[in-house]
Amino acid sequence: MNAIAEPVLHPPIPATTKAPVLDTLERPLRDLRLSVIDQCNFRCTYCMPREVFGADYPFLRASERLSFDQMVKIAKAFAALGVEKIRITGGEPLLRRGLETLVERLAGLTTANGKPMDIALTTNGSLLAARARALRDAGLRRVTVSLDAIDDAVFRRMSDTDLPVARILDGIEAAQAAGLAPVKVNTVIERGVNDGQILPLVRHFRGTDIALRFIEYMDVGGASTWSNATVLTAREIRAVVESEFPLVALAPEHASATAVNYRHADARGQVGFIASISQPFCGDCTRARVSADGQLYTCLFATRGTDLKPWLGDAEPVEALAEALRRRWSARDDRYSELRSIRRTSGTGKPYPTVRMSLVGG
Ligand code: SAM
Ligand code: SF4
Ligand code: SF4
Repeated sequence: MNAIAEPVLHPPIPATTKAPVLDTLERPLRDLRLSVIDQCNFRCTYCMPREVFGADYPFLRASERLSFDQMVKIAKAFAALGVEKIRITGGEPLLRRGLETLVERLAGLTTANGKPMDIALTTNGSLLAARARALRDAGLRRVTVSLDAIDDAVFRRMSDTDLPVARILDGIEAAQAAGLAPVKVNTVIERGVNDGQILPLVRHFRGTDIALRFIEYMDVGGASTWSNATVLTAREIRAVVESEFPLVALAPEHASATAVNYRHADARGQVGFIASISQPFCGDCTRARVSADGQLYTCLFATRGTDLKPWLGDAEPVEALAEALRRRWSARDDRYSELRSIRRTSGTGKPYPTVRMSLVGG
């Protein structure tokens, strides 16, 4: 096994104001989701349906995407304001060439408290087998892999790909072998599409050290076929799991954790439930998102972002960017999921036009 180099830590920049910065609902800024690309090699029907994201879809050109230098500058500014964790996402982040270089640079950052920045990655796993070791060597510590079925036919239908499930399982195994920990698996459940996969997934991952988390199907931008009827609630999913495997509730990992976790009664692993629709957690939402083209979104369901590019030029000090971020976060009042039933139709009967998930990152 290769020796894993510890990242060289860079001291934090001084915060322009005392961290933590609070929004109008007194929520601190703790997490950054950084989208590195808006393209994907899958066309999951709940995220990038092929009818919408076809061959002529106007994805960002490479020149429109943030450079790694700009991303690192953004990360430093967020660190100054209290961010402790950066999740790299997309689109499919492993399609971004040289991602290991970015991971290495982000892993070298320090939080406002002087701790190493916690770097995580969310991926569809299709390209992970060949990259897990290099990502680990670059300083990645953990990974979340999205996988919606164990059965090939259901997986291929839902992710709209020709790849077999084995390809994703190989990626998961490689991540474990490389020492990434924890490795989590996220599964979106859509009623009538993959609810028959709940038990096969639990059976597969029991006893493997991999925490499986079920996510309620959300009405994010891109989920064009979403309706209330397509949502299987976390409570319903848990009932299916408990029909075969008794579960015991665990204490939350931290206040802003999105998943409610359970362990198998026989101690053979964990299962989590993310109830974004049926039990929204806006009250504890400490997440900011930056899209691959440098827009700041303060909610997954925002309709518009704040363009950060004016602060990303070489001549602009990182402190000025931090100050702009502080001002924007201080004005934040988002709580879409809590207001969902009112805002869904924006008063016109038309769907509420939120930013597409694949641009802003899950
Ligand atoms: N491509 C990577 C992946 O699939 O893991 C990263 C980006 S993807 C947008 C991040 C997460 O968003 C995935 O776990 C995916 O399942 C989830 N997601 C996308 N659309 C969703 C929806 N309509 N409801 C719930 N989760 C969704
Ligand atoms: Fe791609 Fe991830 Fe969206 Fe699926 S969920 S289409 S893998 S970005
Ligand atoms: Fe956070 Fe917006 Fe989701 Fe609420 S709806 S939890 S504010 S991202």
